[in-house]
Amino acid sequence: MSSAVSTAFEHTRVPYGEDGRLVRGIIARCGAPSCEAAVPLPVNLMANGRGMDDNIEWQFVARKLEAKGWRIGKSAAAHRCPKCFNAAKFAAMRKSEEKPMPKVEVPPPPQVALQIVKDHGKAMTREDRRIIFEKLNEVYIDGKVGYGRGWTDEKVATDLGVPRAWVKLLREENFGDEVGNEEIHEQIAEAKAALTEMRKLEPDMRRLLAIADKVEKSLAEIQKVLK
Ligand SMILES: [Zn+2]
Repeated sequence: MSSAVSTAFEHTRVPYGEDGRLVRGIIARCGAPSCEAAVPLPVNLMANGRGMDDNIEWQFVARKLEAKGWRIGKSAAAHRCPKCFNAAKFAAMRKSEEKPMPKVEVPPPPQVALQIVKDHGKAMTREDRRIIFEKLNEVYIDGKVGYGRGWTDEKVATDLGVPRAWVKLLREENFGDEVGNEEIHEQIAEAKAALTEMRKLEPDMRRLLAIADKVEKSLAEIQKVLK
């Protein structure tokens, strides 16, 4: 018969009715530290000879007292009078308001992946990789020459409709530098050739400039005479 539940209340005789006669009942005491609040409750269902099931008694008391604003716990220390119960509720509420939302730390993705996400907000699928790889295989000559004529990361990306960063990533992983571009090599060669041609003209240019100087002086002489 005696269990944790049966010790939740003080079993005693409590006043009942208008005449205040004492009947069997319980007293529940507030379990908050330094609170002396207590409430009596007649529990006259006990008089059936074999006592009352502890759990049924607890449920009966809890229902009755909670209707009066009490919080009834499973042990004596857990009961709270309406005043203490409200104070605890407010404190809990204030605490949950003050508590900042827990920050979820998302580990930053590697630089390249971050760039891809920034550019297009989606990740490269295996199919994307396959398509880009095949295209690079077709238009990229080798690490020394780089892209074939007219091809760049940008052109491949536009051609396939994929982010440029994906093309760059796969090219760097599997092929070589973008700047090893065949066209750029040709342009450099052309510029060097043009420079050589211009250097060759230098003596002729000097000669022509010397003639120009002479012609200019002659013109000045003629103009003086004609004045
Ligand atoms: Zn209290």
